[in-house]
Amino acid sequence: MTEIRTIRQVIEPRFVMEGAGVRLLRSFGPQVSNQFDPFLLFDHFAFNDPPEDALVGFPTHPHRGIETVTYMLSGTVNHRDSLGNSGIIAAGDVQWMTAGGGIMHAEMPRLDDRGDNKGFQLWVNLPAARKMSSPQYQEVKADTIPEIERDGVKVRLVTGEFAGHTGPVKGIAAEPIYLDASLAPNTVFSLPTPKGHTCLAYLYEGGVTVQAEAIKSTRMLVFTEGDYLEIHAGVDGARFMLFAGAPFREPIAPYGPFVMNTRQEIEQALEDLRNGTFVKVG
Ligand code: MN
Repeated sequence: MTEIRTIRQVIEPRFVMEGAGVRLLRSFGPQVSNQFDPFLLFDHFAFNDPPEDALVGFPTHPHRGIETVTYMLSGTVNHRDSLGNSGIIAAGDVQWMTAGGGIMHAEMPRLDDRGDNKGFQLWVNLPAARKMSSPQYQEVKADTIPEIERDGVKVRLVTGEFAGHTGPVKGIAAEPIYLDASLAPNTVFSLPTPKGHTCLAYLYEGGVTVQAEAIKSTRMLVFTEGDYLEIHAGVDGARFMLFAGAPFREPIAPYGPFVMNTRQEIEQALEDLRNGTFVKVG
């Protein structure tokens, strides 16, 4: 029997400061309680709303034990890392970075010529067995992300399956689905979701109704357990990022840009940083 997901929790994102004084709207960050397992963090950046004084960005910093997923709506992020990679994540692009055992990188947002820079960063956990794996990237350019449009619902599919299509990002431990949905007014988005998977949607434009509960942007919606999701757009339409994934059900020890399983592994990460042995070469 189909079990329809309802809204379990609505989170109002809060402004936080990160990097070199960058203001972000954070829905949640890594916590020992790990209540959105396998997802650890969701940040929304909109650097012209309200305007930033000086858009500096995120100078070189480490990550270990997680994946960071950057999805740009407008503007760019200039990226450079300890493997010698550098590039630009442009509007519509995705960078799915598996930090594994260790990476150092810089992420520097830049406005487009209309003064816009908007996007999202999602952190996805890695299971214990993959926390010290070799770093890897899946960089996906905008024009290779499938766009599926039907009945007024447009979906850009980053990973997972939607309406018989498969997203370009593959081999992720959490078996996630991650997509960007744009709904015309009064349309319906529906999606089968694996039972037991954690499922959330970040509503950043318009309004929706889920099982008779109406929500307006900007909010993070956390759904109950179930195997089917139905989201109705209101009269203004709606835009949201939707993500679901399999929880690992492991203890986590978060510390800044690291998320490991134990305090001892965090101590090890800090020691590796001090000793200059942090970066793992694939
Ligand atoms: Mn980073």
